[in-house]
Amino acid sequence: MAVVDEADADNDEGNNMQSRQIYFCRRPDGKPAPDVFEERLVDVAAPRDGEILCRNVTVSVDPYLRLKMYDRRSYTPPLRIGEAIPGRAVALVLESRAPGLAPGDHVVIPGGWQQYALVRGEAARRIDLSVASPGAWLGPLGMTGMTAYAGLMHIGRPEAGETLVVTGAAGAVGGIAGQIGRLLGCRVVGIAGSEEKCRAIVEQFGFDAGLNYREPDLAARLGAACPDGIDIHFDNVGGEISRTVASAFNDFGRLVVCGLISQYSGQQHADPAALDEFMRLVLTRRLTVQGFIVSDLERKFPEFEDRMANWLQTGQIVHREHARSGFGEIVPAFLGMLSGENIGKSIVHLAD
Ligand code: NDP
Repeated sequence: MAVVDEADADNDEGNNMQSRQIYFCRRPDGKPAPDVFEERLVDVAAPRDGEILCRNVTVSVDPYLRLKMYDRRSYTPPLRIGEAIPGRAVALVLESRAPGLAPGDHVVIPGGWQQYALVRGEAARRIDLSVASPGAWLGPLGMTGMTAYAGLMHIGRPEAGETLVVTGAAGAVGGIAGQIGRLLGCRVVGIAGSEEKCRAIVEQFGFDAGLNYREPDLAARLGAACPDGIDIHFDNVGGEISRTVASAFNDFGRLVVCGLISQYSGQQHADPAALDEFMRLVLTRRLTVQGFIVSDLERKFPEFEDRMANWLQTGQIVHREHARSGFGEIVPAFLGMLSGENIGKSIVHLAD
């Protein structure tokens, strides 16, 4: 990854601070490589009225960023070449000109992949690191936990005794979605990409079964793990795995389309008849299929926050994170997460 020094030696507008920052410099064709990114050293300006200056402590790496690398319409604007990489971070407030926030506070902010961030006070959520770790604030108590909760509760609408299948089951969202389903009395079957992940979701997260999609005969193994059929599929991956799950749906099943990570790097459907077959299942089994973006369900955040904090404090939901340390590890962590290196939430610690 190239490193460019853009800092101004006579930085008199700011506070003589400089920040390492990662930029988007090339649209990938297929799987992204490190040369999609570039690192620069930039000046850090002093906060203006309503702003806080923060030092990023822990940054989140998330799959949606791969979708933002396409130059096409999506639910957020595409990344522009030269744009700083966005992302959520746990940060320490260094200077504040925003009401209600003071130096020494910890916050979750849209901090991006950089050492220091200047953001509006309204964009910051004050957090208590004595209650939960930075990884937990970015994971189960943050956007990923909210995604799992809101998608499962308000679209999947689980009922005790139903069978829930979660794909991407050992990841940040999937691991929490499955644990919530188990708490609500569902039989929970997870699908993930390794034996280690399948063991973790059963032994640590309490799923009833874990199936490795890289082994043969997924359809037969799924049938055996779901003897009463499938009522809800919380889908994080799409593609062939989703088609396999769809064929085992019960009448009135619900497909929660949370993510399609198997297609984010340009993979195509192998079989053009697959959509017709899927639509036949939607009709004959009277399936409900709904995509969602977590921000659609923002009004559910207070309800989520209360319940998730309680589940974590009482040990009913387990948080697991996959952490790297150091600024230079952000890009490898992102690429590693896309390749499946993580169990739980992928994060990178930059500082204490
Ligand atoms: P994860 O922690 O689940 O990490 C990504 C995982 O995806 C990898 O560990 C890997 O696990 C799996 N994966 C990668 N490639 C493939 C593939 N070809 N086939 C199957 N699995 C694959 O990430 P998140 O929990 O942060 O996100 C999970 C999903 O949720 C993503 O699709 C994401 O876009 C979506 N999401 C949606 C939101 C919304 O608002 N709708 C908000 C947040 C996330 P494995 O080893 O099992 O392959």
